[in-house]
Amino acid sequence: MRPISRGATSVVTGAAGFLGSHLTDALLARGHKVIGIDNFVTGSVDNIAHLGGNPNFKFIQQDITEFIFLDVPVNYVWHFASPASPVDYLELPIQTLKVGSLGTHKALGLAKNKNARLLLASTSEIYGDPLVHPQTEDYWGNVNSIGPRGCYDEAKRFGEAMAMAYRRQHGVETRIVRIFNTYGPRMRLHDGRVVPAFISQALKQKPLTVFGRGRQTRSFCYVSDLIEGIYRLMMSSCEQPVNIGNPAEMTVLEFAKEIIRATGSRSKIAFKPLPQDDPRQRRPDISRARKLLHWEPKVALAEGLARTIEYFRRKTSA
Ligand code: NAD
Ligand code: UDP
Repeated sequence: MRPISRGATSVVTGAAGFLGSHLTDALLARGHKVIGIDNFVTGSVDNIAHLGGNPNFKFIQQDITEFIFLDVPVNYVWHFASPASPVDYLELPIQTLKVGSLGTHKALGLAKNKNARLLLASTSEIYGDPLVHPQTEDYWGNVNSIGPRGCYDEAKRFGEAMAMAYRRQHGVETRIVRIFNTYGPRMRLHDGRVVPAFISQALKQKPLTVFGRGRQTRSFCYVSDLIEGIYRLMMSSCEQPVNIGNPAEMTVLEFAKEIIRATGSRSKIAFKPLPQDDPRQRRPDISRARKLLHWEPKVALAEGLARTIEYFRRKTSA
């Protein structure tokens, strides 16, 4: 299939979520028609309200673990539906397993039926608590299948295996992106992820809850960078998984201090117990994305945080 843009029809599962809604905006801006599907389990109508009345956007409220029926041709399926915050998937372990397995199966079935290309939103979590650092795509991971994060990690690993099986058995064109921690406007204030948690605490002058001693590391990618990388991957001929994320790594304690500085807050730091199986270090090796997609992140942390803090300020004062 030759990549097309203007006039293409894209299906975005999880379109009312943080990433799905930004992806939808980016696709519409590039001339796609978009059919968004979401059941609002962790998403919000606020994220897509601005698209009401747009003739190129259609929304279907549906659980994608159920059969997806569409009576129009489809070129691309972007499969983003899944709880993504550890707090969300710990509360919704069975839905998380179902959307990652049955939902991915349905999305692949749709792609097969429509002869469409499918991109699976996978995750750095498939590397678990990694023993290889930074993480390259050929590392198989270190996941505790029976631990609390197993519902998410294993569902995503199953999804990758299912995508490869559809490619091998049915010839479906698949792309797999392994997304590393991404942040930006439209994250839910209370979704429990570290970026909204710290910013909302700092804005309210409350202590920032650093888990453990805060020595675990993460690297944070601004949403516009991530969406650009994902778009390039879908339009590329790359059939192997590709890490997309920002390689600038920092400890969670350093990140908390950065948030206090960026918000100008008087908040202090409160150390809380480290959740079980919290990965100790995480940083993407993005050599493959650089080489095959000519992609690398452009938005510096200070700039991305300024935009995100501005969004949360408006949300908290609304
Ligand atoms: P999000 O929770 O904001 O969005 C997920 C969306 O999927 C929500 O709108 C939710 O309602 C919807 N959804 C969940 N189950 C569904 C179902 N059964 N049927 C229909 N809709 C359903 O999370 P996000 O951060 O936007 O993550 C989007 C995708 O990217 C997820 O697949 C996630 O695993 C992946 N990802 C995100 C990150 C990140 O840092 N944001 C990192 C790695 C992977
Ligand atoms: N974290 C924290 N305080 C919080 C929320 C998260 O210290 O209030 C830590 C968490 O333990 C992890 C890191 O921040 O080490 C990133 O957590 P997040 O939930 O954003 O996603 P993860 O990368 O663990 O999937």
